[in-house]
Amino acid sequence: MISGPSGAGKGTLIRAAAPHFDRLLISVSATTRARRAGEREGRDYRFMSRADFLRRVEEGQFLEWAEFGGNLYGTPADFVDAGLEAGNDVILEIELKGARQVRARRPQAVSIFIQPPSLAELERRLRLRNTENEEEIHRRIEHAREELDALQADLLRAERDFHYVIVNADVELAAEALRSTIEEIRANDPAR
Ligand code: 5GP
Repeated sequence: MISGPSGAGKGTLIRAAAPHFDRLLISVSATTRARRAGEREGRDYRFMSRADFLRRVEEGQFLEWAEFGGNLYGTPADFVDAGLEAGNDVILEIELKGARQVRARRPQAVSIFIQPPSLAELERRLRLRNTENEEEIHRRIEHAREELDALQADLLRAERDFHYVIVNADVELAAEALRSTIEEIRANDPAR
């Protein structure tokens, strides 16, 4: 499982690291979120209505699911199970509530938290961006502070709950770190 705040660069790192491995599948999640430009049905997500999603929840089709930013996201269990049974590893890119469910249901799952650059750096960038009037600056910084507080709480939890934490300050270095982390996880896997 790969988790981390939005903007941390999870997807980029996975796409950079995964092609170096065989028998490594990336799970395609179901979501009720609208498709963004450039996203493809079945490759990036399986896009569906809320009613369809909730029917699948009722039918127990998801290994985990959660609401994030007003949309529902879930990991189809059949894809993961078939992949594992065929001898693959499966990567899930999911938010924190989903990761908690998978941890409880699949104790063998290994979790990686992708951390954005330091909070101070994020705040510095936000301040730099603010060239508006004082009131606007104040409003934006207050908003940023709320986000940073939430992020800080995530980071503290991550240190405790995740097997690995990778800081994504430099994409190439972080992708290399993810690659060696996957190698290490495979080397330590008693099932191999
Ligand atoms: P986005 O809308 O930006 O693609 O994703 C929003 C968040 O939902 C990201 O943190 C992403 O990792 C998470 N996410 C994507 N698919 C799933 C899923 O199947 N389950 C859960 N719990 N989270 C997901």
